[in-house]
Amino acid sequence: MGGIIKMNIILMGLPGAGKGTQAEKIIAEYNIPHISTGDMFRAAMANETALGLKAKSYMDQGALVPDEVTNGIVKERLAESDTEKGFLLDGFPRTLEQAQALDQMLTELGKKIDAVIDIHVPEDILVDRLAGRYMCRECGATYHKIFNPTTVEGTCDRCGGHDFYQREDDKPETVKNRLAINIKNSEPILAYYKEEGLLQSIDGNREIDTVFEDVKKIIE
Ligand code: ADP
Ligand code: AMP
Repeated sequence: MGGIIKMNIILMGLPGAGKGTQAEKIIAEYNIPHISTGDMFRAAMANETALGLKAKSYMDQGALVPDEVTNGIVKERLAESDTEKGFLLDGFPRTLEQAQALDQMLTELGKKIDAVIDIHVPEDILVDRLAGRYMCRECGATYHKIFNPTTVEGTCDRCGGHDFYQREDDKPETVKNRLAINIKNSEPILAYYKEEGLLQSIDGNREIDTVFEDVKKIIE
């Protein structure tokens, strides 16, 4: 299947649940823009923009960037014309205030959310996933030392790049803090979308392609 859908989707899940990994597959299959606040902050940091400098101190500690900053970049991004095709939000909203701000933005744009997909993975597995995650510096593709390595060692499957790094916030001393903050904040958001009848939960503690089969079932 795949091809043309026009859906506005939120991908939820704690750090390491596999949002970025599934997002890559969703955008390849359905050709909708991927809006990842984490990717936007990392790009801003790499380019040393004012936004990047502001976000860095929060990100390096595993803390959340303040709502007004995050809401502002999402609002600008959603107003771009490619979101007419639908969009995939990844890593936003992360607080109840962001969820409420998102509703307001969408109302102003005459849009609505069609589905919220929550990828659920037990906490001990998340710790292992974050500890082994590495990224391509060229294109941002995500891999795992054991669970999802590059096909050819040292070469990015997506762009052919050879420069990889571990995210500063994936170091063990930051991971605990990140997980705790995200667990605390995600509960009210999940309750909010459940109440709206939008929430679909899937078991993310399976093979990447098996998880993607469930994602496709929800989308289609
Ligand atoms: P998130 O975007 O939710 O933080 P990622 O997509 O970056 O999570 O995945 C976290 C890590 O776990 C990465 O190293 C990725 O390669 C790996 N991973 C993703 N999905 C799975 C899966 N289903 N099984 C095993 N490892 C996975
Ligand atoms: P991610 O790539 O989604 O794991 O995000 C990496 C980091 O970026 C987070 O730990 C936060 O510091 C910041 N960030 C990403 N999305 C948000 C958000 N919606 N609200 C606040 N901070 C965010």
